[in-house]
Amino acid sequence: MNPSMFPRAALLALCAAWALPGAAQDAPAPSLDPAEFKTCLSQLQGTPAFRAITAQTFAEQTRTLAPDPSVLVLLNRQPEFTMPVWDYMAVLDDAERVQDGRAAFAKWQDVLQKIEAQTGVPAAIITGVWGVESNFGQNLGGRPLVQSLATLSCFGRRQAYFRGEFAAALRIIQEGHIAPDKLTGSWAGAFGQTQFMPSTFFANAVDFDGDGRRDIVDSVPDALASTAKFLQNAGWRRGEPWGFEVRLPKGFDSSGASRKAKQPIATWQRAGLTLADGQPLPGDLPSAGLMIPAAGGPAFLVGRNFDALYRYNASENYALAIAHLADLIADPQAPLAFATPWPTDDPGLSRAENRELQTLLLARGHDIGTADGMIGAKTREAIKAEQQRLGVKADGRAGQKLLAALRKAD
Ligand code: CA
Repeated sequence: MNPSMFPRAALLALCAAWALPGAAQDAPAPSLDPAEFKTCLSQLQGTPAFRAITAQTFAEQTRTLAPDPSVLVLLNRQPEFTMPVWDYMAVLDDAERVQDGRAAFAKWQDVLQKIEAQTGVPAAIITGVWGVESNFGQNLGGRPLVQSLATLSCFGRRQAYFRGEFAAALRIIQEGHIAPDKLTGSWAGAFGQTQFMPSTFFANAVDFDGDGRRDIVDSVPDALASTAKFLQNAGWRRGEPWGFEVRLPKGFDSSGASRKAKQPIATWQRAGLTLADGQPLPGDLPSAGLMIPAAGGPAFLVGRNFDALYRYNASENYALAIAHLADLIADPQAPLAFATPWPTDDPGLSRAENRELQTLLLARGHDIGTADGMIGAKTREAIKAEQQRLGVKADGRAGQKLLAALRKAD
């Protein structure tokens, strides 16, 4: 989750959570003056954003608080290269996540069906968001939210934005929704099974299990209902699909293709577009935009519900990962790959393949910690060293070609 005004945060939060490659070597952590931090906090307390926070709450939550310099390093992190869409999809929609998604879908089907009936958001879509955002509640992020947000409220850029989130985090604790020690998340403040920012929590979180608390950390029903509420508030339309993969007619001019340039489905039909298997376009999507994430790769017609998914993370690649995962969860016969392959001769790796790659790197003596499937800075350095040895472009990217080369050399 990330607020649309701050799209970079969640992408990088996800990089941290899922350890997707793409970040340069970090700058050293700055030293932060504890006295300056204390002064800043005491000044914040009197500002309008903190009006709803009692003196007691504020004192309890900040009395022993020290600033965390590491969140500023992450705030200033610049991506080293733009990650191709097929790398995102390989990790986010791998066979493991589809399997886990089908299990979660079956386990929570009663709750999911009730939520779908109330909101119109399909159970598979809710499960897909859950899988991409927190790996079905497995990956919530371990940074204390109050400490991260207090630090970002007093140091670095975007302080005004983070002050609002800091105040909202304190309000979550004050109202007893989530205990302070449970309120952990990404460095930027996304937390819980839905990875909401604190302000997003107050706009969308739901107490679905009826215990009086909106607990998106420990209550799966609350988390699933809150995801559906978010999508409903983002304009989800009951009964409409998110979209579908399409086949373009020969010689089709796709230069103006855009998710936002929506046309009636009849217009696309007249232009010769069909479903990927050649069947006519279905009539349950009134209008759609043509989205082509990579030229020469798969093409999609996407409707208003895709826009609602986009609101979750302000990234078309993430929205596509959620939408496709939902399709794979809903239909056990659906193939993992799109009908049109991605335009690359070096596809991305699944988490299982990332673990295998790391095991091979460890066997070659690279000091990269454990083979956890997370491609962090150390793994990227080891990949670069192996790429140099193999005489290929040393970009630190984990792909099928490198994996194949290391398997052979093993
Ligand atoms: Ca509850």
